[in-house]
Amino acid sequence: MTRRVKVGNTFIGGGAPVSVQTMLDVPSYDVDGNVGQALAVQAAGADVLRVAVPDKDALKTLEAVKKAVSIPVVADIHFDYKLAIESVDRGADKIRINPGNIGGAEKVRAVIAKCAANGVAVRVGVNSGSLEKELLSKYGAPTPEALCESALNAVSLLEELDFFNTVVSIKTSSVADTVKAYRLFSSQSDYPLHIGVTEAGTERTGVIRSSAALGSLLLDGIGDTLRVSLTASPVKEVQAGIEILKACGIRSGAQVISCPTCGRTRIDVKSLAEQTERMLAGCKKPVKVAVMGCVVNGPGEAREADFGITGGDGVGLVFKRGEIVEKVRESELLDALLKYIKEYETKDE
Ligand code: SF4
Repeated sequence: MTRRVKVGNTFIGGGAPVSVQTMLDVPSYDVDGNVGQALAVQAAGADVLRVAVPDKDALKTLEAVKKAVSIPVVADIHFDYKLAIESVDRGADKIRINPGNIGGAEKVRAVIAKCAANGVAVRVGVNSGSLEKELLSKYGAPTPEALCESALNAVSLLEELDFFNTVVSIKTSSVADTVKAYRLFSSQSDYPLHIGVTEAGTERTGVIRSSAALGSLLLDGIGDTLRVSLTASPVKEVQAGIEILKACGIRSGAQVISCPTCGRTRIDVKSLAEQTERMLAGCKKPVKVAVMGCVVNGPGEAREADFGITGGDGVGLVFKRGEIVEKVRESELLDALLKYIKEYETKDE
């Protein structure tokens, strides 16, 4: 098990639930825009959020975001160690730095001293695009071995400063290299890991790449917090992160399954499945709901689901573990399903 790191009012690692992070993408000078987006990602279920702090003006934004939300806030720092120090004063719960670009050991030492004095955690983010020159020439390229060595060096540097409140990320845009680098690191260190694929791409390809990498790692028991990086809204990143955790059986909640449809389909499965997903987005109980396209095969094919709906030609059926429990008009199908889910949700409470 990894060690436990306190980040604001939550923990990363040491058996704490795997948390979902995102990063705000409103320009850092737009205080109100950032606060609005921070509230939206919190409402979408983000456990931790990160704000870019590229200059002094962004410190105001960081402070306003921190005051507006109840989840931990991370300040993302590149190059300027003074901004890291001031971010702690403005309420950051964690500082994300890349020791390779903060400007030398003295500056890293100053940041770490400030974090230690204030109980603030640090994420060292090693990235294939900013690997130290010595490691690049030793390995010839930002290989998983080079990235792992860079991360191990970074945590040792912090340990020499008596600092252990560290989370580590090792990111590349290659799924295979990302998985290999994290596996290597986790076989040699017990620091908690922030997992993700960097520059993962647009919503469609980014979710696919992230699912492949994060799914492989999570099913191996690697990963304490995650971010699905997308060229899309942070709310989408949060939703994708939660779905990956649910798909890996790590977070409970509603799982909507739906049939691929075929020539037997006589009901709008796509729209029903999408509406069911939206309807159950906030459900915390582990319930599997199937949306199927035909009356003959649907209930049987989705026997492992707790509940399901199907229908055709204006008629809708609700079924429970493969057995039909109610016949309604097609237009009443979702209401009928919701009634059963609500009963189920309150049953053991
Ligand atoms: Fe086709 Fe019915 Fe199976 Fe859906 S449930 S794929 S409609 S046979």
